[in-house]
Amino acid sequence: MALIVQKYGGTSVGTIERIEAVADRVIATRDKGNQVVVVVSAMSGETNRLIALANEIVDKPPAHEMDVLVSTGEQVTIALLSMALIKKGAAARSYTGSQIKMLTDSAHGKARILDILCGDMEKDLQDGNIIVVAGFQGVDEKGRITTLGRGGSDTTAVAMAAALKADECQIYTDVDGVYTTDPRIEPNARKLDKITFEEMLEMASLGSKVLQIRSVEFAGKYNVPLRVLSSFEEAEGSGTLITTEDDEMEQALISGIAFNKDEAQLTISGVPDKPGVASDILGPITEANIEIDMIVQNVGEDSSTDFTFTVHRNDYDAALAILTRTGDEVKARKVYGDNRIVKVSLVGVGMRSHAGIACKMFSALAEENINIRMISTSEIKISVVIDEKYLELGVRTLHSAFGLENDGNLASA
Ligand code: ASP
Ligand code: MG
Repeated sequence: MALIVQKYGGTSVGTIERIEAVADRVIATRDKGNQVVVVVSAMSGETNRLIALANEIVDKPPAHEMDVLVSTGEQVTIALLSMALIKKGAAARSYTGSQIKMLTDSAHGKARILDILCGDMEKDLQDGNIIVVAGFQGVDEKGRITTLGRGGSDTTAVAMAAALKADECQIYTDVDGVYTTDPRIEPNARKLDKITFEEMLEMASLGSKVLQIRSVEFAGKYNVPLRVLSSFEEAEGSGTLITTEDDEMEQALISGIAFNKDEAQLTISGVPDKPGVASDILGPITEANIEIDMIVQNVGEDSSTDFTFTVHRNDYDAALAILTRTGDEVKARKVYGDNRIVKVSLVGVGMRSHAGIACKMFSALAEENINIRMISTSEIKISVVIDEKYLELGVRTLHSAFGLENDGNLASA
């Protein structure tokens, strides 16, 4: 008998009809001979509604009371889903975060899981119950309610799966899996059957927001096979399995193309080059709590250096003001920036063992006359910064250059 953890997101439990449909799916899973633990989010829109209520009272509500408030959304859905299961003849029991003893630190609003004691859950499962767990919420050492950050129910589900040593953690959402890129930009995007944890982390942090990133980190660390599936499809598809790298399998060179529209680029040029310039330039930016993503520096023949980096677009104005001040101090030739850029990245564990991918990427872009402003690489990713107006063309060009629409890029090919 397998133990399956299923997680249903806000849209999957957004109405009473949807909750009844989830109950049917859970019962079908049990009827295949599995033990089932279900983790649910609040009904869609509910968490935002609760936050808005608090903001009617005060702009910055106390974080610990905020957690008491927003955690109620999930308490509603565990009760409703349990009722639906019981109505349909299944034995079911709901658990809040404090009942399962989802022990976290006290960082309200972004708490980290320390331990899960599982309460009577294992016995309940053995007695044939379906267990329904409130996502997103935990309890700290002092017994106060905490929450795990927006989208945190994914992490609850993975943590439950790790604690119970489940065979699989299935994340039901409104898409049927992870795609080679955003289908709204490239209609030929293909659903991936399999992707590694590492690749998924790159895809997620680059904007393919299917899962809370922390849940993928957690799943990778505890080696919990994670499957993304749609709860909106009649026929049960197999979604996308996120798992460890598999040597046996023929590995795709490139798994997907991610992009990020939230970045802006800043440049300081003609800075006299000497030890310490990098920290002189970036120090004031990080001190202002502005996160830096890509960094490029080079030194010209005249021993002056040019420095370009990217920040979140929301931080662009603040970063430009700081950099302008630094520019005066270090006697730079020029400080300028552009907030209409995007980052496009090829992601694939297969590129580790293959040279030439970067060149193929650059020449495909050149053929479309797309200018590359910055380049950065890691073992499984190559990112370029290009003008915002070329986002769609760039993504589509790379998607077809690497044959992603039809699995045409196997590493051995
Ligand atoms: N209800 C929470 C949110 O909206 C947690 C979740 O849905 O995963 O962020
Ligand atoms: Mg979600």
